Amino acid sequence: MARGTSRVCAAVTVAALTTACTAGQAAPPAPAPQRATPSPSGSAPAEPAGVKPRRGEVGRIPGPYPRVISSIPTRRKVVFLTIDDGWEQDPGFVRQVREQRIPITAFAMRDAVEAKGTPDPAGGVGRFVGAGKWDYFRELNAAGVAVENHTLTHPNLRLLGRDAQKAEICGASRLIARRIGVRPALFRPPFGTYTSDTLAAAKACGIRDVLLWTATVQPGGKIAYQVPDKRLRPGDILLLHFRPHLARDFRILVDKIKRRGYELGDLQAYLAATSQAASR
Ligand SMILES: [Zn+2]
Repeated sequence: MARGTSRVCAAVTVAALTTACTAGQAAPPAPAPQRATPSPSGSAPAEPAGVKPRRGEVGRIPGPYPRVISSIPTRRKVVFLTIDDGWEQDPGFVRQVREQRIPITAFAMRDAVEAKGTPDPAGGVGRFVGAGKWDYFRELNAAGVAVENHTLTHPNLRLLGRDAQKAEICGASRLIARRIGVRPALFRPPFGTYTSDTLAAAKACGIRDVLLWTATVQPGGKIAYQVPDKRLRPGDILLLHFRPHLARDFRILVDKIKRRGYELGDLQAYLAATSQAASR
């Protein structure tokens, strides 16, 4: 599906390098997507929320793996929500995700989750900085949220050699496996910057796909697009942060997305479909 593939590559060029745009080898067998582990209370974990791909809906994204993906090749009006770092840990947000069955993917960064250092003040003053540490992400996972890899310390990976990049990525995967009970399949490079060493390191750490994004969501729920026409497009991946007022901003954002006729998708189910889809 040429349209989907070219969009992926165009977005990669904007975000960073073009290394991953070369189509190549056959897809390896798909691992089971990350699913929720049993909740601390012992109750059954929630099934992942969000719409699932219809048969034949999703275009194939070719390897080599890890693939670098900025959007999902589909014509359906569906977008995907991803949330990074983990500084602000408002318990109200976990309730919101659980009760409203909102599909999100969280990219956890160790120093944020453990509140080692100071969060970016751009989102306002935090009330819940590091409040729940890894328990917060365990609760999200029990609510059906995949917890994925966003490094240990949030470096600019272009400034690091392969071994240092591997330490950041493998270290975070090991930590998340220990703390959450599921090993990450996805990696999001801080600032969206990466090199060919990043892809090699991610592969060595068991990462299946590197996830970028097509638009960021600012405080107040405002969408900042990376495309000139400033519109949501089918398959867009939106990036938010665990910032103060996330619950409020999230309500505004979800309303806005639905008003425009879009649904929220299950990212893991869609990614699986990009591997399985026949080349058309
Ligand atoms: Zn980040």
